[in-house]
Amino acid sequence: MLTEKFPSLKGLILDMDGVLWHDTQAIGNLPALFRSISDLGLRYVFATNNATKTIGEYQEKLLGFGLEVSPEQIITSAGTTALYLQNRHPQGTCIYVVGSDSLKQILQQHGFVVSNVDDSHSAALVVVGMDIGMTYEKIRNAALLVRAGAEFIATNADATFPTPQGLFPGAGTMVAAIATASGKDPLVIGKPFTAMYEHAYRVLNLNPHQVMGVGDRLETDIAGAQRAGCLAGLVLSGVSTCSQALTWQPAPDIIAANLDELIHG
Ligand SMILES: [Mg+2]
Repeated sequence: MLTEKFPSLKGLILDMDGVLWHDTQAIGNLPALFRSISDLGLRYVFATNNATKTIGEYQEKLLGFGLEVSPEQIITSAGTTALYLQNRHPQGTCIYVVGSDSLKQILQQHGFVVSNVDDSHSAALVVVGMDIGMTYEKIRNAALLVRAGAEFIATNADATFPTPQGLFPGAGTMVAAIATASGKDPLVIGKPFTAMYEHAYRVLNLNPHQVMGVGDRLETDIAGAQRAGCLAGLVLSGVSTCSQALTWQPAPDIIAANLDELIHG
């Protein structure tokens, strides 16, 4: 059992894609697995770099796999971006967003005004995420704003994301275009940076040493957990392979075939 190997462990920060499911396919018996996790006295939150879905959409997806969770337990890079900015900028601050409608909606729900292309010059902040409607005009507007002093924030920097047709361009591709055009690097909110972990520690009400970050990707989930000072658990049910894991330094605290083995092994 995981809690026998790590007696101080009280909470988990769980990545979703490649840990709980592949697209629409569950990895193992998730309702039974989460009963075990609760029986071990472990609290948990879910954390994803994907900024294109709302928290409600994730709640619905989890429910579809038999998991009923509260909105606070779902941490997305979009939600953490909105909270991060809310703590630092007054209500009504204008943001130029290169990203999905869900990202714009979350920022509006946190009191920000999302600028249109026409009035983009009034924006004090530029927020960039995955945008399937990316255009030259958006890169140009964002770069001009950043060059004029607007703060440059990226929801996440994942270069690509996996699909059945291969790796598609991700948020990191959009961010790189604007970083190149503006000559400035953004503040990145998503994993492997620490903002989402700090948010998770607050939701869990635990200290880093009582928490394990669990994921399938070394460069985001494991690097992020290590940077944020919690335990790092790698599952081999997603992107990273066993041979990649064995060369990762420092090594993850635990490596398992999947979440079930991580908890029960
Ligand atoms: Mg993943």
